[in-house]
Parts: sequence; C-alpha cells; structure tokens
Amino acid sequence: MKIAFIGLGNMGGGMAANLVRAGHEVNAFDLSEEALARAKENGCAPYGAVAEAVQGVDAVVTMLPNGGIVKSVYTSDVIGKAPGGALFLDCSTIDLETAREVAGLAEDAGYEMVDAPVSGGIAAANGGTLTFMVGGTDAAFAKAEKVLDPMAKKVVHAGAIGAGQVAKMCNNMLLAIHMIGTCEALKLAEKAGLDPQMFYEISSNATGYNWSLNDYTPAPGIGATSPADNDYQGGFAAALMLKDLKLAMAGAETSGASVPMGKHAKEIYEAFVEAGGGGKDFGAIFTTL
Ligand code: NAD
Repeated sequence: MKIAFIGLGNMGGGMAANLVRAGHEVNAFDLSEEALARAKENGCAPYGAVAEAVQGVDAVVTMLPNGGIVKSVYTSDVIGKAPGGALFLDCSTIDLETAREVAGLAEDAGYEMVDAPVSGGIAAANGGTLTFMVGGTDAAFAKAEKVLDPMAKKVVHAGAIGAGQVAKMCNNMLLAIHMIGTCEALKLAEKAGLDPQMFYEISSNATGYNWSLNDYTPAPGIGATSPADNDYQGGFAAALMLKDLKLAMAGAETSGASVPMGKHAKEIYEAFVEAGGGGKDFGAIFTTL
C-alpha cells in the first residue's frame, strides 16, 4: 500500500518505520526537519507539505499532538487533496468532539475515516506492539485493520466513530485513579506500621489488586520493577497523563457524566505538573504523599 504518515514524533517515528518494514511505501511529513530526516533514514519518502504527501495514497495516518492540529491538518491539507477512496486514520489522542467533527467533514467529502488512538508508549510504537482502539464503520475498520496490523499487538473495533477516543479517555482516567489509590495505600501501610512489601504481597493477591500495584508498583524497591526503581525516569510522563485527564474531563462535560474521582485525579496531576513534575513517570505521585 501507499501510505501518507503525518506527525513523526516520539510515537509516529517508530510507527512509520514499522509500516516501511511491512513493505508499504510511506510518504512522510512533519513540521520538524529533524523528525523528517529520521523518517528518511528509516525508509520513508520525505515531503515538504502535507498536501503533496497525500497525493496518490491509499491511506493517510496522522499522529499529532492535539485536536486543534488534527483538525487544521485534515481541513487544510488532507480532505479534498487525498485521492477519493483513501482511508483516513487518526491515531492521535484528541478530544471526542473534534474526533467526531473531523470524521464528519471527511465523510461529507466522501472519505472513510477512523479514530484509532493507541495504548502503549514509545517502546511499543518502536516495537510494533501498540494496542489500537478503533472507532468507525465495519467497512472502514476492515480496511483500517490492514494498515494498523504492522504497528500493533492488538487492534480492537471499539464501535462507531469516536468510540476509540472514548475507550482511551475512560481507560486512562481509570489508570490515573488506581495509580493514585495505589500510591496512597502503599504509603498508608508504611505509616501505619506494615512493611509495604508485605502489603504488596497481600493486596496484589487480594481484592486490592490492580495493574498499578501488581505490574507497575509506584514505590521504589517494592513489588514489580517500574520507573519508581529508576527515580521515576522513563515510563509514562505525568504531563501526558494530565493531557489525557483533561480530555476525559471534556468528554465528561459534553456527555453529562459525573466523574468526581476523575476530576480529583486531574487536580492532583495538575498540581504535580505545575510543581515541575511533568517529565517524571506518573507513578511519582507517590513522592508527594
Ligand atoms: P510528539 O510531540 O513527539 O510528536 C508530534 C509530532 O507532530 C512532532 O514531531 C511535531 O513536529 C509534529 N507536528 C506538529 N504539528 C504538525 C503539523 N501541523 N503538521 C505536521 N506535523 C506536525 O508527540 P508524541 O509523543 O509522538 O504523541 C503523538 C500523539 O500520540 C499525541 O496525541 C499523544 O497524546 C499520543 N500518545 C502518546 C504516547 C506517548 O507515550 N508519547 C502514548 C500514547 C499516545
């Protein structure tokens, strides 16, 4: 297939390289010359503009920072410029409203589009082991799966357009909540006189078990190996978790859902990022307790 890939940053760089490895012809564009040069080294064909990169392609994949940029790229340079019949896949994590709006504009112009945000960080993007949560029609999903497969461990059809973004925001809101709860429980155990390692042994096998405790223990030297054991370097940055929580709060607002714990989690991450912790792994909330 001939695929245009727009946005070759931390995530998109590795994803585009995996499409090349799978034998696809990949036209690349990024505002950053450095990112574009890296894509060229990985076998992509670099282009000077989005509208040029999408000429003659079967699919357009975008991996961009936010909804505003996604909307401007599609409305200015993709819709009406890519050939009729091309499939659009936005893999960025963006707000639900924009995801639905851009897909609607694409559909009005006769294109099929899916939202396909990912779970998994930079290592999974490089390794081709991302999980894609896809929103779109059955027909669009069937085509999208073929494009996403070389970048994926798993590709899930979540539902209609926007369902991928809903899955992503709900998952990450839940992740933030159980991470903070896990930090609090580990700290309470320690303060109240129980060895936190003993607490881990018990709770990871009891009803308190969850991914943050069992697989990503946020206390240094306790339980599973995680960024906590490396001064919270690497892993999933608190600033990115805050971005996802803001998207979840926007989604809750537009859909009228009540999310008191999600709101509080957002406030906790906001304070942590404002205090300078944005670059640390999101488990570093443990250090604030
Ligand atoms: P990044 O900032 O490293 O990459 C974004 C790239 O987009 C940059 O190279 C930038 O130059 C480019 N860009 C910005 N505006 C552009 C435009 N108008 N045209 C073309 N290129 C443009 O970000 P990232 O970490 O790769 O994240 C990308 C998306 O993936 C985000 O939506 C993020 O929330 C999501 N995501 C990231 C992670 C992660 O661990 N980094 C995990 C899951 C999902």
